[in-house]
Amino acid sequence: MPQTITLTLTPRQAADPKQYTAQVARALRIDEQDISLLRIIKRSVDARRGALKVNLTLEAFIDREPQPTPIAFDYPSVAGKREAVIVGAGPAGLFAALRLIEKGIRPIIFERGKEVVERGKDIALIQRNKGINPDSNYAFGEGGAGTFSDGKLFTRSKKRGDYNRALQRLVFHGASPEILYEAHPHIGSDRLPRIIADIRRRILDAGGEIHFGKRVTAFRFRDGRVVGIEVDGSDFPTDMVVVATGHSARDIYETLHSSGIRLEAKPYAMGVRIEHPQSLIDNIQYHASEQMEYLPAASYSLVAQVGGRGVYSFCMCPGGFIVPAMTDASESVVNGMSPSRRNSPFANSGFVTEIRLDDFAHLRPQHGDLAGLQFQRELEHAARTYGGANQTAPAQRVSDFVAGRASTSLPATSYVPGVVCSRLDEWLPSFIGSRLREAIRFFDKRMHGYLTDEAIVVGVESRTSTPVRIPRDKTTLMHPDIEGLYPAGEGAGYAGGIISAALDGERIAEAIAERCAR
Ligand SMILES: Cc1cc2nc3c(=O)[nH]c(=O)nc-3n(C[C@H](O)[C@H](O)[C@H](O)COP(=O)(O)OP(=O)(O)OC[C@H]3O[C@@H](n4cnc5c(N)ncnc54)[C@H](O)[C@@H]3O)c2cc1C
Repeated sequence: MPQTITLTLTPRQAADPKQYTAQVARALRIDEQDISLLRIIKRSVDARRGALKVNLTLEAFIDREPQPTPIAFDYPSVAGKREAVIVGAGPAGLFAALRLIEKGIRPIIFERGKEVVERGKDIALIQRNKGINPDSNYAFGEGGAGTFSDGKLFTRSKKRGDYNRALQRLVFHGASPEILYEAHPHIGSDRLPRIIADIRRRILDAGGEIHFGKRVTAFRFRDGRVVGIEVDGSDFPTDMVVVATGHSARDIYETLHSSGIRLEAKPYAMGVRIEHPQSLIDNIQYHASEQMEYLPAASYSLVAQVGGRGVYSFCMCPGGFIVPAMTDASESVVNGMSPSRRNSPFANSGFVTEIRLDDFAHLRPQHGDLAGLQFQRELEHAARTYGGANQTAPAQRVSDFVAGRASTSLPATSYVPGVVCSRLDEWLPSFIGSRLREAIRFFDKRMHGYLTDEAIVVGVESRTSTPVRIPRDKTTLMHPDIEGLYPAGEGAGYAGGIISAALDGERIAEAIAERCAR
């Protein structure tokens, strides 16, 4: 049995394998040469109360002790087996496909966007203000919304599935093994595309199908059952469809709504993206320690209650970039991503407040259960109006936003398409703007320097979660009224983030396998 040992180290010691190996040998009273393998199983930074520490839990294999076997997943051939259709190749759709293969079912995926390398070219055009392809952008295309992202992998919903297996699966497909032990694992936008391409290769090798550039435009139902889908105007018969289309696929909600399929409006969150110099966040979080250089770019997570509602930071990207995440040229939507090394000079984060059903009740008579979607769309159109042409985004210095005055200039930003001065304090709905302003004052007390004229708010962070749920039965995971219709992932309202969407995809695959086995 390997010996497990936890060390509390300075950042410099934790960054140097020689130093911590010597400490392990000393603690175990053995020679360093007797350690045949030393592997980290948990690493976390503790920056509370001024002292910077790194907690490192290690597993030491001694002498000829058997070493851990490499992570392996077996994807058997599913050629000629029972088929299930998946709409959308995001984390939910891809993990559903892998799990279906493990269960002996052949996945057939339809994805409106392009494969990941071609998609990258469209994303480069968006960054250069050369227009938006409505089927290939930061939200749509192979790998889904999280492909060109920070690739943060933690989730609050670990209970929903096998979190460790999901991380191991990503390592099997090419992610760094570090994600298995970091307290806050992330992959990075430069590494994710290779992992996604590997997943595709395995699905195809096992006999699955993936059709890119194929948009599902309608669902066919008969007598309370799915009987097919319409793909770019052509019918494709099937009795099992996983709808894993993400929260930006407004056309999917509209198609289901107009077919009379039951949907539910749900609360969500909207606000802005806030960006600071990374050095400022490092200094605040690491107390300007001289050992900062041995630590990753600092992050933060802030929550406040303002006027009875939650206001919080969301999807923080240390050393990252703000990105244009709209799916239509008439909108302005921002989000964030970071490369694996998190080495840009900027720290950005979503900064949002709860949106409740009452906030868009005035839109219900006309839009029914899609009223939240309409409210979201109106804010995105306003942001586009105030942001000007192309993908330029409206922005304001944080100090001006809080004080309620116009910015006459803006500091450097990571947002490549460009920002323009705009009075977000005036045009954001007042219940959103006033709460964000009060929360910034409050956060400044916890992170002194957070309220600064070196930081900006950029509009709008509107796609945090879906405003519409596609209901499903708790046991069968099918839509309660339609046999064979499996709503999955973030767009259906059952996930929020890469890992929780992936875990939800796996659960759906297991429910399908169970039904097929009956
Ligand atoms: C810029 C950015 C950064 C992010 N950073 C992180 C992060 O660091 N960590 C994290 O956990 N989460 C992050 N997220 C959120 C995360 O990406 C999503 O929660 C996750 O991808 C949801 O997975 P999903 O499979 O449910 O849906 P999606 O990933 O949205 O995938 C849906 C797929 O369906 C396809 N599709 C849509 N409509 C159709 C149709 N009609 N026909 C065929 N195909 C269709 C889309 O093209 C897409 O590929 C980020 C999102 C963005 C945009």
